Amino acid sequence: MADTEFMRLALAQARAARAAGEVPVGAVVVKDGVVIGAGCNNPIASHDPTAHAEVNALRAAARTLGNYRLDGCDLFVTLEPCAMCVGAMLHARLRRVVFGAADPKTGAAGSVLDLFDQAGQVRLNHHTEVRAGVLADDCAALLHEFFGERRRAASADASSGWPLRDDALRTPDACFAGLPGYPWAPHYIADLPSLAGLRLHYLDEGPRERSHDGPLTWLCLHGNPSWSYLYRKMIPVFAAAGHRVVAPDLIGFGRSDKPKKDGAHSFSWHREVLLEFVERLDLRNTVLVVQDWGGLLGLTLPQAAPARYRGLLVMNTALGTGDAALSPGFLAWREMCAKHPDFDVARLIARGNPQLAAAECAAYAAPFPDRGHRAALRAFPAMVPDRIDADGAALSRAARAFWRERWTGQTLMAVGVQDPVLGLPVMRELQQTIRGCGEPMLLAQAGHFVPEQGGPIAQSALAHFAPR
Ligand SMILES: [Zn+2]
Repeated sequence: MADTEFMRLALAQARAARAAGEVPVGAVVVKDGVVIGAGCNNPIASHDPTAHAEVNALRAAARTLGNYRLDGCDLFVTLEPCAMCVGAMLHARLRRVVFGAADPKTGAAGSVLDLFDQAGQVRLNHHTEVRAGVLADDCAALLHEFFGERRRAASADASSGWPLRDDALRTPDACFAGLPGYPWAPHYIADLPSLAGLRLHYLDEGPRERSHDGPLTWLCLHGNPSWSYLYRKMIPVFAAAGHRVVAPDLIGFGRSDKPKKDGAHSFSWHREVLLEFVERLDLRNTVLVVQDWGGLLGLTLPQAAPARYRGLLVMNTALGTGDAALSPGFLAWREMCAKHPDFDVARLIARGNPQLAAAECAAYAAPFPDRGHRAALRAFPAMVPDRIDADGAALSRAARAFWRERWTGQTLMAVGVQDPVLGLPVMRELQQTIRGCGEPMLLAQAGHFVPEQGGPIAQSALAHFAPR
């Protein structure tokens, strides 16, 4: 194979880096015409400042050979290596290094420094041959596209008046363009105390004129790994009846900002955000609409301000009280998430909702273009309170007491029977917990994402909760 062929393999590695939200640089190590190691740049995901493509490829190759010396090996990399990587290559005794694009800022193979000593000025005890400029245009184009996108996103954020915190990411608006069944204008809020500048997105549909004892306000809370897109079939029904519909995206989901670190997420913080959100929008005459994490968090809200709520529409969810065993279905889900943190969101949705078009399943994945945007998806399964002293467990026990003893509003329960995680057995238990909760509406065809069958549910809810 020629140098260009191996450089194409390095380019494939660079594209993998880009797909993961890293600077797109890729490398392969070749011995006797065979690739013995490949690596893509991934310092962000690995929390490793040395995780450049070249170092990753050298490590992989050395493992393959069972030797830290890579005698007779050639390394192909899409970008001129930095000083650190050249140092590693010299330690490895590479025979030859072939790179694509030159790096005028940090290149140490001739651009800024010449650590390979191609001019022969210092006596190195090992000499590595260097070839520059193989598929240079392709390699450079990938980097230019990547940084161009970054710049455009940053300037759009700056000019929008919603600065982005350094420790957070914001899914580009383009990811949300033309999603099927989701025509609504975004609304943002960033000045809640608990947000500390993170931008929270919400939908706010229905009449602008709002009286306190007039139409209902439907507060729709989604779960993991969904977002307000989940409620697209219910929102039009409520709005057409002249009611207000408010559907926030939890931080880390949808069009809301996404902290880079998994550890930024906690039960009590997300609850605090929602409490402040309800106060700021001064929601009254509210029907709380919950599913999955929307319920884990949302069911703990009314106890803090009971007068704001007149109804509860509850779909497959639970309270995380920490004093009862989590269902085997949930434990299996949590294990899957831990084992496959990059699981395909669209495929998960498709599996549980075979009636959906591919574009609708893809829309669920729109907020999460790469691994960097998925911190909440990684954090949430482990956040379900599973011990008596876990964050949120005491709040959830207080909520259980509230629903049992103090709740005076109306309740409608709708259950997706096919759900292996939070299906009928879990919901029967919740039904016993909620004062005045009647026989649930059973949706034989619905799975976990119950609002996907939301049209009929919303119609029933209108009849159930309409002001008498
Ligand atoms: Zn490097």
